[in-house]
Amino acid sequence: MSFVTHLESALDGTRLPARTLQTLHEGRPLWVRYDLDAVAGAVDRDALVQREPTLWRYRELLPVDDDEAITSLGEGLSPLLPAPRLGAALGVPRLLIKDESQLPTGSFKARGMALAVSMARQLGVERVAVPTAGNAGGALAAYAARAGMDCVVLMPEDTPLVNKLEAVLFGARAFLVDGLIHDCGAVVREGVERCGWFDMSTLKEPYRIEGKKTMGLELAEQLGWRLPDAILYPTGGGTGLIGMSKAFEELGAIGWLEGRTRPRFYSCQSSGCSPIATAFEAGERFAAPAPDPATVASGLRVPVAVGDFMILDAVRASGGRAMSADESRLLATMGHAARLEGISICPETAACLLVLEQLVAEGELDAEQQVVVFNTGAAQKYVECLEVELPRLSRASPDWDLLAG
Ligand SMILES: *Cc1c(COP(=O)(O)O)cnc(C)c1O
Repeated sequence: MSFVTHLESALDGTRLPARTLQTLHEGRPLWVRYDLDAVAGAVDRDALVQREPTLWRYRELLPVDDDEAITSLGEGLSPLLPAPRLGAALGVPRLLIKDESQLPTGSFKARGMALAVSMARQLGVERVAVPTAGNAGGALAAYAARAGMDCVVLMPEDTPLVNKLEAVLFGARAFLVDGLIHDCGAVVREGVERCGWFDMSTLKEPYRIEGKKTMGLELAEQLGWRLPDAILYPTGGGTGLIGMSKAFEELGAIGWLEGRTRPRFYSCQSSGCSPIATAFEAGERFAAPAPDPATVASGLRVPVAVGDFMILDAVRASGGRAMSADESRLLATMGHAARLEGISICPETAACLLVLEQLVAEGELDAEQQVVVFNTGAAQKYVECLEVELPRLSRASPDWDLLAG
């Protein structure tokens, strides 16, 4: 059995029973709550090193009760890479990049789906569905395949090519919808009513947050349980940032952290779609829908986030900020960073690097500070973005001036 005690409405604290199928409560997300004293008594922080190098090493802080339900592709323990050249160029030489591009299906979405599919399987779900304009569809399709479960993926026509194809590759029934992500969401809601699909949308079931929480658990462990000064995280629906914030809260409660119990969170968006940054600036707790969302960073193209208040609460409580980056500079920044460090930087992370540049210019971050940027996905998944690099590809005529240069 897991250490889960109950589920709790993130908006008004209403308690709901665990170990039954739950979705939203009055339109807003649920937290999974644990008996943290019991967790603290059951596991010794320093014994974790002997466990397998996947996110399942944090089993006591995860919700799965039934071992048989665990659905894994070996996810987790992504590298925390020093980025000295990129860091020096930005004025933060202690820069670290937590590289999620190496996870199954090439993005951190694998973490959330590993937990959500495992829990769906434990609770007897047979068919999962998700609306997506990016990496969530392929990740869900892969984990559903792994679990032997049916999967339906609904995507807007302009979803990046690789995301469309990977959903099909992993056996999902994939559909293109003439419309935007919320039109896809409406189809999923109808499928829930008419066909008994289970809706795996961001924050609409409680367990994707628990999977994403493991980014925070891993980061803490990799830094010897000392949290960094600042974390820059690209924000779409917000599960990554919300999950990490929850991770640090739980680690603080079980007494595993040395020193500070919270880093400053910088939630990073693109000027093409920045509802959270706009709400932060305006001092609001809930975000107005972003008008005409358009960004090459598909993970950031989320005009309405059901967890808006959870993101904004976490950012404010940490002393950080929500900011937006110049959309027109994302592609160049992605290539520049990839060339400096050999890391497969996605366009969402390019938004973080541009925000980092702003923060250094404003004097809010400097060379003394330990800064962690999350690289949430692999550049290879964005072929449309990589095409800007084509002019750099020369034809190898036997021209030794060129070849030796
Ligand atoms: C989904 C996604 C994001 C946004 O993640 P949230 O946790 O939903 O805010 C960022 N980057 C990539 C690559 C993504 O796929």
